[in-house]
Amino acid sequence: MKAAISSRIGTRIFVACALVVCVALVTPAQAPKTSPAQKMDEAYTKLIKEYTQDPRISTDLVDHMPASDKIPSPLKFLGRIPGTPGELTYAKDIQRYYEALAKSSPRFKYWTIGKTDEGRDMVLLAVADEQTIKTLDTYKANLAALTDPRKTTEAQAQLLIKTAKPIYWITAGMHSGETGGPETLIELPYRLAVEETPLIQNIRNNVIVLITPVLEVDGKEKHVDTYYYGKKTGKPRPPLVYWGRYVAHDDNRDAMGQMLKLTQNVNRTFLEWKPTILHDLHEASNYLYASTGQGPYNEQVDAITINEWWALANTEVMEMTKRNVPGVWTYGFYDGWTPNYMFFIAHTKNAVGRFYEVQSYGPDIVENLRMGANATSREWYRPNPPLPQIKWGPRNNTNIQESALLIALNYVAKNREMFLENYWLKNKRALDKGRTQAPYAWVIPSAQRRKAEAADLVNALRRQGLEISRANAAFKAGSTSVAAGDYVIRADQPYRTMADMYFSLQNYAPANPNPYDDTGWTMQLMRNVSVVPVGERAVLDQPMVLIAADVKAPGGIEGAGPVIIVEHTSDNTVVTFRFKHADVKMQAAEDDFEAGGHKFKAGAFIILGGDRAKLDATLKDLGLSAWAVAAAPSVKAHSLDVPRIGYVHSWSNTQNEGWVRGAFDAFGVPYTYFGDIKLREGNLRAKYDVIVFPHVGGTAQSQVNGLAGAEPIPYKKSELTPNLGVQDQADDIRGGMGFDGLMNLYQFVKEGGLLITEGATSVIFPDYNLVNGVSIESPQGLFVRGSIMRGVVADAKSPIMYGYDGSQLPVYFSQSPVLAVGGGGGGMGGGRGGGGGAQIPGVGAIVAPNAASTQKLSLWAPEGIAGVASPRGGASGPLADIGGRGPSTPRPGSEQAGSGQAAGGGRGGGGFVAGAGAPRVILRFPANADDMLLSGVLVGGEALAGRAQVVDSTIGTGHVVMFAIRPFWRFQTQGTFFLGFNAILNWNHLDAGK
Ligand SMILES: [Zn+2]
Repeated sequence: MKAAISSRIGTRIFVACALVVCVALVTPAQAPKTSPAQKMDEAYTKLIKEYTQDPRISTDLVDHMPASDKIPSPLKFLGRIPGTPGELTYAKDIQRYYEALAKSSPRFKYWTIGKTDEGRDMVLLAVADEQTIKTLDTYKANLAALTDPRKTTEAQAQLLIKTAKPIYWITAGMHSGETGGPETLIELPYRLAVEETPLIQNIRNNVIVLITPVLEVDGKEKHVDTYYYGKKTGKPRPPLVYWGRYVAHDDNRDAMGQMLKLTQNVNRTFLEWKPTILHDLHEASNYLYASTGQGPYNEQVDAITINEWWALANTEVMEMTKRNVPGVWTYGFYDGWTPNYMFFIAHTKNAVGRFYEVQSYGPDIVENLRMGANATSREWYRPNPPLPQIKWGPRNNTNIQESALLIALNYVAKNREMFLENYWLKNKRALDKGRTQAPYAWVIPSAQRRKAEAADLVNALRRQGLEISRANAAFKAGSTSVAAGDYVIRADQPYRTMADMYFSLQNYAPANPNPYDDTGWTMQLMRNVSVVPVGERAVLDQPMVLIAADVKAPGGIEGAGPVIIVEHTSDNTVVTFRFKHADVKMQAAEDDFEAGGHKFKAGAFIILGGDRAKLDATLKDLGLSAWAVAAAPSVKAHSLDVPRIGYVHSWSNTQNEGWVRGAFDAFGVPYTYFGDIKLREGNLRAKYDVIVFPHVGGTAQSQVNGLAGAEPIPYKKSELTPNLGVQDQADDIRGGMGFDGLMNLYQFVKEGGLLITEGATSVIFPDYNLVNGVSIESPQGLFVRGSIMRGVVADAKSPIMYGYDGSQLPVYFSQSPVLAVGGGGGGMGGGRGGGGGAQIPGVGAIVAPNAASTQKLSLWAPEGIAGVASPRGGASGPLADIGGRGPSTPRPGSEQAGSGQAAGGGRGGGGFVAGAGAPRVILRFPANADDMLLSGVLVGGEALAGRAQVVDSTIGTGHVVMFAIRPFWRFQTQGTFFLGFNAILNWNHLDAGK
C-alpha cells in the first residue's frame, strides 16, 4: 500500500423538515483533500503480506491495515487476522468482536436481529460516519419514504434522493462450510471505520453498511467444531450432518416458505430497514464470481434491477482487472429465475439482491490449485480469467472478496443518488402497474373450503410485507364476486411485485440453460388455496379495510348434541387437532354423509364423548368447523388410533428430511427421531406403528448402505465438538440401515406397520423387490425440474385422499422417481376437470427472455372455484453452491442427452412377492402429456402418462405408502401436506374404501 491518503470531508449538517419526514442533510463527499499519511499497523500489515499466498491476489485496498488507538483490530481482539491459515472463528467470537467495536467507536451500532432455530443470536453491525450512526432512524425513515409513492410526493422524493443514503446489507455464513465470508466480515468493518483514504471516507459518508457476518449461526458453530476436531486429533473430521436445526445447503431456498428462523429474521430486518442492496457472500467458483447470471431472469424483477446487477458486477470485474487480479468475472453461473433464494427478499421489495461466489477460504493452504480449460478460458464475461494453477490460501480469499466489496460499496457511494432514484422509480413503477394494468387485485375468498389455510396464506404474505385488506361488504368487480370478509390484495402497493411473482404461472422455456433450482413455484397451487386475480380496475374503489394483525378463520362447534363431527377440509390444522386431543376417541367416516342438516365429506372426524368446551376452544384456535348432532351418523367409520411415529433420518444426508420434520413440528405431529443405523436393531413393530423415511437421494442401494468409511465416524457432543449432537448423535454413523435394517423394515410392515417414503426413498422397496407390481422407470428425454404438475385422483376412496375435494390436485414433482404400477403406467382415462377457467394474467406472455417457450401450460381450474390457482415446483438433489445446479439431467437437444442414463425400461416389480398385495394407486399423472404441466418446465411428459404419484402397497397386514411427488417440499407445498398426514392418521385402516 502506498502512503495512505486521508481526507477531511467538510460535512455540513442541517435539518430540513419535508412534509413527510425530517431529514438530516449531509452534503455528500466532495473532492477529498489530502492529509498526512495515516499511521499503519505494521504487525497487521506484515501478517497480511505473509499470509497472501500469491501477490496477484491482492490489491491496494487491502494490502495494509491502519492502526487505531481506540478501535480494537481483529489482531488485537482475536489474536489473529482474517486469512490466518489453519484457523476459523466461531460466530459467537465474531459477535463478541462486533460488540467490542460498537463500544469503541461512534461509527458503529450493534444489535441482535433474532434467535436461530437452535436459540443462538443473529446479529447486525451498522457502519457509517458518526453523524449517520447518530441519526440512523432518520435515514431509515428516508428509505421508508422512498418506498411508498402513496405517501411521498415526487417533490419530496426528489429532495430525499439528494439527502438520503442507500443501505448496503452484507450477509455471509449462510452455507456453513463456506467460511471466507464471515472471516472477511471480521476485517471489513474495522477497515471501514478506521481507514482515512478517500475511497473509505466516501463509503462511510455516503452509504450505510449493515453487516450480518453469519446467517446460519447454528451451522457455523458446528462447522468450526468439526474443523478443530480434525485438526487437533488428526482423525477424519465428522461430516457436517446437520447445519441448522432443519436443513443444510437448502437454507438459502427458504425465501418463499420462510420456515427457518434465519429467514424470518432476515425478512423482518429487511422490512424494517429497507436496504437498497442485499448482498450474500458464498463460496464455490473461481476466483470471484459477481452475480448476474445467464438467465432467464425472473419475469417480475424490474428491468432496472437487472441493470443494477450488471452495473455492479461490471464495475467489480473492471476495477479488479485494473488492479491485475485474475479470475474476477460474472454471467456464466446461476440463472436468476426462482424467487426462493434468500436474497430475493430484496427483489420482491424492489431492491437489489446479489451474491458472490469466492474461491474457498479453507482455511488450509492449497499448494497447487489447478483449474481446467473451461474455467480459465478468456470469455467476454471473463476477460481476465483465473490461472491454470496458483497457490491458494485463506488470505487470498479475504483479499479478493474484501477488495471487491470495497469496490462495490464505493460504486454505490459514488452513485448514491442513482441508486436512490432507481429505488424510488421501481417503487413508483410497481405502484403504477397496479393502477394501470390487470391484475388490479388478488382476492383470497375467506370462506373457501380450506379456510384455515387461506388465513395462513394471508398471514404468511403479510409477514413478508404485503398489505392485505378485507372487504367490508360484498361487491362485484367486473366478473369477480367478492364476499364480505374476503381477503383482498390490492395491486396498487409498492410490494405488489411480490404478489405478482408468487401468484403468476411459470413457463420455463426448455431451450434455456439448465435451471439452477425450481422452475415453478406458483404459491396458490402449491398451497391448494384459491386466489382470484381481478381484471377490473373498479376493485380498487371498493370499500375495504387494511388488516392490522394476524387473521384466523372462524371455527368452533355449532349445534347441540352429544356427537361432534369435525369437518375434514385438508386444512393442515386438522392434524394438529387430532394430536392435541390424542386422548379423545375419534373415528373417521369412510364415505360422504349427511348429519344434522350438514353434508360432510369422507374423512370427517366423528367424536362420541369428549369435553365439548375443550374441543371447541381448540377448533376455534385452529380455524376448524364442527357440528354437534344428536346421534352418531350411520356412515361406515373406523377408529383413528393415535400412532406411535418413528422418524428415520439418514446419517449421510439430512437436507431433505429437515423440511418434512419442520412441517411435522409446525403442525404438532409428534415423532421419535432416530438415525438409519438404528433400524438394524429390529423389533420395530413393538415400538412404532408408523415409520416415516423421507427423501435421502441416491439409489436404493446407496440409501440402504448409508455412509461409507474404513474407520468409525463419531458424530456427537464432546469437549472438542460442543455444538454437535443437538438433533441426534452416535459413536459411529457408518453403514446405514444395511440389509438387516431393510429386512427389519420389511418385517415391520408385514406385522401391520405403515412405512411412508417420499422421493428417492420410494425406490427402495420396489428396487429390492419387496412390493408387488411397482417398478421404477428411468425414461430418456424426460425433463421436469421442480415443476408443479397436475395430480389426478385415482382412488378417491382411499383414506389418503380424505378431506380433498375434487378429482385433481396440484403437486410438486422433480424428475424422479418415476413409479409405474401394473407393468408400465397405461392411460387411466382423462380426468381433466374444469378446463379453461379465468384468464391468468401473464400466462402466455411468460416466456424466458433468451428463448421462446414452446411448452404448453395446462390451466388449473379446480371444481367449485371460479377463479384460478397457478402451479409451480421445486428442484431436488444435491446442489452446488448458491445456484446449486443439480446433477445435470439429460434432455433432448442437450449435449448431455442420453449420457449414462439407464435405457428406458423399469426396475423392480419383476417377481411376485409372497405376502405382498396388489398396489393401490392413489394419485397419478394425467394420461395426456398436454394436461400435466401447471407451472415450471416439462419435456417428454409422455413418459409420465398415467404413472403413479402416490402408491399404497401392502405387505402382510401392513402398508408401504410411496410418494413419487414431494408432499412436504420446502414448506411451500402446504396443499399436499395432508396426503402424508392422512396416511399417518389412518395408518391401520388404509384399506378402507378398497
Ligand atoms: Zn453457498
